[in-house]
Amino acid sequence: DINATAITADAWIENLLVPEDAALKQTIQSAIDADIPPISVSAAQGAMLHLFAKSFGARRILELGTLVGYSTIWLARALPADGKLISLELFERNARLARQNLESAGVADKVDIRVGLAEKSLNILVNDGVEPFDFVFLDADKVSYPLYLERILMLTKPGSLIISDNVIRNGGVVDPENEDPAIRGIREFMDMLSANPNLQSTVVQTVGSKGYDGFAISRVS
Ligand code: SAM
Repeated sequence: DINATAITADAWIENLLVPEDAALKQTIQSAIDADIPPISVSAAQGAMLHLFAKSFGARRILELGTLVGYSTIWLARALPADGKLISLELFERNARLARQNLESAGVADKVDIRVGLAEKSLNILVNDGVEPFDFVFLDADKVSYPLYLERILMLTKPGSLIISDNVIRNGGVVDPENEDPAIRGIREFMDMLSANPNLQSTVVQTVGSKGYDGFAISRVS
């Protein structure tokens, strides 16, 4: 069974290369204790985001979808001393847990969590004319990915990197019978990536403890 093997291999990778420290373990535990579904990125994926952001020299990171701050911690730990991360989350309850977890991880001072509909928070950032972000992690509700991409393009600059999670969804995106609203959102988002001459994009499919999925990676030019 390929899925069972992929889960075992993920545990092996995580043990060998990306052991979680106490703060990351506690972050996962905080979600379990609050009955929040385990939909954060895996340790291996978090480390990938961290390595990308660090190698890229990201100074200003925008994240859509905080949950309890697991990916936020991996990303914030890649920032330089003067770096900043803004993370958007719908629910105050998640944001509260995330703030505690960021505090334990020692990165609370670098992160600003904005609670409410990501669409609203994005509009505020656009209206405020904030300094563009050089790195974006898109991981909120999939239905709104097309709208989020539009706004993200107003908040980035040439050279910015956008990483978008869950664009394969167990192959649902290429199943013509699948008309799930999330899947339709992803398809429209992928069409936008394809049609935009200012974006160079690819998708890397992933397997492991989070199932079969994929990340879209896009560079703004
Ligand atoms: N990035 C997190 C991680 O890897 O640790 C996981 C994020 S989880 C997959 C998606 C998050 O998006 C949830 O916390 C959910 O509450 C949030 N969300 C859903 N709809 C939203 C919306 N309209 N605006 C802002 N956040 C939203």
